[in-house]
Amino acid sequence: MTQTTQPWESLALTSTWRGWWQPPVAGLPALPVLAARGRRAGPVVLITGGVHGDEYEGPAAIYSLFNQLDLTTLAGQVIGLPVVNVAAWQAHARTSPGDGVDLNRVFPGTGDRNAEPSRQLAGEIFERFVRPCDALIDLHSGGARLVHLPMVGWYAGGGEAERLARRFGDGLMPWLIPHVAGVLSCEAHRAGKVAIGAEYGGGARLDPGGVAAYVAGLRRVLALLAGDEPELAPPDTRRPIAGSYQTVEQGGLFVARVNLGDHVTPATVLGQLYSLLGEAVDEVKAARAGIVAALAHRALLGPGDRVAYVG
Ligand SMILES: [Zn+2]
Repeated sequence: MTQTTQPWESLALTSTWRGWWQPPVAGLPALPVLAARGRRAGPVVLITGGVHGDEYEGPAAIYSLFNQLDLTTLAGQVIGLPVVNVAAWQAHARTSPGDGVDLNRVFPGTGDRNAEPSRQLAGEIFERFVRPCDALIDLHSGGARLVHLPMVGWYAGGGEAERLARRFGDGLMPWLIPHVAGVLSCEAHRAGKVAIGAEYGGGARLDPGGVAAYVAGLRRVLALLAGDEPELAPPDTRRPIAGSYQTVEQGGLFVARVNLGDHVTPATVLGQLYSLLGEAVDEVKAARAGIVAALAHRALLGPGDRVAYVG
């Protein structure tokens, strides 16, 4: 992979830069990059949004953060990739239209020029942006197909990440993120980075409350990483949401019987699936006990589609 120095990699103290980075992958558009360097030394923090192309709170929060950044209090460097998957963004889709690959399942990617473009893009982003950073904050939402409870999480064993995630904001539920190979934050955690992931809303809309919550959380985490903010708040001891997504075996029209945030058990029916003739073809039960942390927003499901996150 080519590693010529890029403008954000040689920023002067107390300066900002915004521009384009063209990944060396044939047929893929350039990515917007926002960067800022504070007045004193500190960590390199990478903030990513739009890894899925139909999620909008993360990109809007990164724009807002950089448009109001105070360089006199910033320590170290913050780099924002508001829309990691530009091809998917332009297609209003979760995944890249060119190859259909979910970018958030193929990190740390590959340098193999014969691989699908999404796998090559993942490799370029991982080498160029993730490896040089100290901490990664990856902002998601439910996308067109799901709606999420606001939550912010870390991976098991990520002590510093848990501390930061629990200070992100109490409007978001703490979340112990399951290890899923290929997920950007998971692979960053495995590579030794302080890695945080967050979810807020979905349904392909942009909740201004989600943007505000993300911006407030980002500011708090940047301050904590810089060692600035005293630990004023009492420790957050809420049980984290754990668990994972669950999918349906067969498709149908999903009529939910629960709401986001409901406490459920394996006996709880999350909803009913109906055929085109109106026959109740399947009853979707909770895969485990816990809180309903995501539900299908697009109600017509195909075989293998995600219907809920319970944990
Ligand atoms: Zn996502």
